[in-house]
Amino acid sequence: MNQLACPKCHQPLLRKDRSYQCVNHHNYDIAKQGYINLLLNPDKATNNPGDSKESLQARKAYLNQGYYDVILNEVTRYIKEHAQPSMDILDLGCGEGYYTFGMKKQLGDTHNYYGLDISKTAIQMATRYDKSINWIVGNSKNIPINDHSLDVITALFTVVNSDELKRTLKNNGYIIHVTANRNHLIEIKELIYDEVKTKSDEHIRLPFNVLESYDFVHQITIDSHEDAVNLLKMTPHYYHIKKERRHIIDELEQLTVTIDIRLTVYQP
Ligand SMILES: [Zn+2]
Repeated sequence: MNQLACPKCHQPLLRKDRSYQCVNHHNYDIAKQGYINLLLNPDKATNNPGDSKESLQARKAYLNQGYYDVILNEVTRYIKEHAQPSMDILDLGCGEGYYTFGMKKQLGDTHNYYGLDISKTAIQMATRYDKSINWIVGNSKNIPINDHSLDVITALFTVVNSDELKRTLKNNGYIIHVTANRNHLIEIKELIYDEVKTKSDEHIRLPFNVLESYDFVHQITIDSHEDAVNLLKMTPHYYHIKKERRHIIDELEQLTVTIDIRLTVYQP
């Protein structure tokens, strides 16, 4: 049984043929690619919220080379160690779906998976990985999931809303929150900016009990021009490159970068 809820009235959504309906007759069609759009009009700040298509395609190409699987492995390690039969797992801000699909590959088919992102373009890309995952276009400030129904929420490099996490998690459920530390991809910032700003997400902490928290630091070497450029394009830094520095990017053959993240497991 799925745990989808109506974003308008928050009643459970039940599947009827090619759509989902709540008790108040709010109706949501399933797109032909297999996802469901539960983003309400007022939630759409722009016509196409979320990351740009160019950035999403770069992200997909880069992630599919496996460079960031070390991050995925840290997330699934915790879930494996605390696994229950048939869990409901939500990946918030799932983007083009690489990590969600990766989790399913590592954790198996016995669980229910949900991938939610505000970008329709991202979710359309995600459906190509696996149609059995519940791919949802939706807002993390109004998660279209029933109260206290989730065992696990993962949030990798994405903004979260504490109230919604607390509302949707079961009492013994937990959230795995991955944030970037100060030195995460520092080499890219050094490549692009004259002066590296030390702004980071290090200060982001959620108001919940901490079950586990640690920093994970790892260096990776990217030895193809295409992969290096894709990594640049999936960061906001790429779009701030000054004209006089463009040649550095064009000439980039190899790039060693630091992954420096904080992984925290919270329980509301
Ligand atoms: Zn409704």
